[in-house]
Amino acid sequence: VDVEKIRNFSIVAHVDHGKSTLADRLLELTGVKKPGDEQSQVLDQLQVEKERGITVKAVTATLDYTYNNETYLLNLIDTPGHVDFSNEVVRSVTACQGVIMLVDANEGIQAQTVAVHSLAKRNNLVIIPTLNKVDLPRANPDKVKEQLQSVFKIDPNTVLSISAKKGWGVRELLEAVIMRIPPPKVVLDDHFSAHIIDTWHDKYRGVLCLAYITSGTVKVGQAVKWQSDSKLQTVKHLALLRPTEEPIDEAIAGQVVMVGCGPKGGGSVGDQLVAKELANASERLSAPAVKHMVYAGIFPADQSQHILLSDAIKKLALNDSAVSVTIDSSPALGQGWRIGFLGLLHLDVFTQRLLQEHKAEAILTAPSVPYKVKIKGAKLIKHYKTDEILITNPLQLPDPNNVVEYFEPFVKGTIITPVEYIGAVTSLCIDRRGTPLPSSAVDDTMTMLQFILPLSEIVVDFHDTLKSITSGFASFDYEDDGFHSSSLVRMDILINGMLVDELSTIVHASRLEYNARRLAEKLKEMIPRQMVQVAIQAVVGGKVLARETIKAYRKDVTAKLYGGDVTRRKKLLKQQAEGKKKMRSVANIKIPRDTFIDVLKK
Ligand code: GDP
Ligand code: MG
Repeated sequence: VDVEKIRNFSIVAHVDHGKSTLADRLLELTGVKKPGDEQSQVLDQLQVEKERGITVKAVTATLDYTYNNETYLLNLIDTPGHVDFSNEVVRSVTACQGVIMLVDANEGIQAQTVAVHSLAKRNNLVIIPTLNKVDLPRANPDKVKEQLQSVFKIDPNTVLSISAKKGWGVRELLEAVIMRIPPPKVVLDDHFSAHIIDTWHDKYRGVLCLAYITSGTVKVGQAVKWQSDSKLQTVKHLALLRPTEEPIDEAIAGQVVMVGCGPKGGGSVGDQLVAKELANASERLSAPAVKHMVYAGIFPADQSQHILLSDAIKKLALNDSAVSVTIDSSPALGQGWRIGFLGLLHLDVFTQRLLQEHKAEAILTAPSVPYKVKIKGAKLIKHYKTDEILITNPLQLPDPNNVVEYFEPFVKGTIITPVEYIGAVTSLCIDRRGTPLPSSAVDDTMTMLQFILPLSEIVVDFHDTLKSITSGFASFDYEDDGFHSSSLVRMDILINGMLVDELSTIVHASRLEYNARRLAEKLKEMIPRQMVQVAIQAVVGGKVLARETIKAYRKDVTAKLYGGDVTRRKKLLKQQAEGKKKMRSVANIKIPRDTFIDVLKK
């Protein structure tokens, strides 16, 4: 292998603009896949990806392509499109020197196009602007070229036009990858070192890693070590992913390969695998910071499934380094975990994968965002003195007397919308406590609006609301804007005077009255009538903000069966007892378990 002949690139685009279809075409063109092969979208391997038509895990494929009598080694890294998975995109980008930026020639630039473009720019990657779907009768390549010029200052003469579906222009695109994207900048003539951009678990071979080799060469059988713990390892498995494994004996700097060090070998994203001769001095490459935007509790549907679920979460967390897992427990739901996710879709996909790939049934609590508080006096947390603490559970919010300042996570949201909806979109954003940034025209019919928004206001239903007020024509994407000073309060729920831990929430001061009323009303709907009256109160610092009552009601499931069939009567009582197990009792009031999960969802 000659480094000058290696090209590492990925395809980035707004969702549905054709990444997976183009990846299929590239695989066909390089002989990996036969045209018309049954299995289309070979890169979308997970069942959840096939069902949802989205790419969750970035997968690599190594392709050979001969151009001007030279054979090139092209490493295509397919990246997930959704905003939630930008972590995967960021990681794969560290191994790339360029990207194909696809834009649908009908739809034009969308919010996510703006996000992936700025990501590529930040990482100094060569961008190959490419219009897709030019086969469609309504495609308007000239108009979209003008958009690219006005939004990104892209010279229209550098824009390629393709139809990934029909295969038009794909060969020219591949040649542009070779011509425009530079080979990786690496040091060949030094000790081996590689950084890990992905890991997954194999039943027999342990942890397998996707590694980008940054210097030297690596061979099967070579002694290596992890930068994080300096433990000696032996390279047991080395392969190209085409995307099925093709074992190789040796690989050089610049290549993206699969490496495994056997069942006890380990490996984690962001770590470096290096030659054993290399001094420990070289720094551990930090993985791109993972920001958990949403936290939720996960509990086994049945405590007998605890071990199964625990095992499944461990395996899945290894494959999805973006989640954070801590142990959690709740009187209503038993032993479980609190998991940090990149966003709601990420959460959804994670639980769906738990089910499909590991047969574990889980229940989820309502999601919440993390907050930060600055407290009076420094506190010792994990050996560090700090006066800032991260709050992922409302119950951890310190007493207001000990707090100097509250912070909540904000994002910079980008919305691309037809001009006739500017008013509606702006009021939606203002209503969600957004602050407008300067807007700019995409063309004469579309506008790009940007807002600084609190994450807590967009995490649940913002996207759906935006789609419905713009008849589906607006697109939305966001990037992290860090923590901003805020005014926060903990709101508690009392049932007949007793605090219900699981129902405490952190609320912005301006939203208190509204949230208190809504939560109390919703609880009234969800809690069944009982033998005694039930009083529901939403309380902040001892002050009642909302109150609802459920009148007493007498219910005897066997009342209709006087002297009737004994077995029938027993069965009914048993059913009732089982029903009880799924209840949590607070002040002698039975609350169905679902209440804790559903009441905070919108
Ligand atoms: P991704 O979300 O970016 O991976 O997009 P996909 O590759 O899954 O494509 C989304 C949809 O657009 C699918 O229904 C594709 O068949 C369709 N599509 C992709 N490329 C083309 C194209 O060049 N022409 C047409 N007409 N449809 C395309
Ligand atoms: Mg796809």
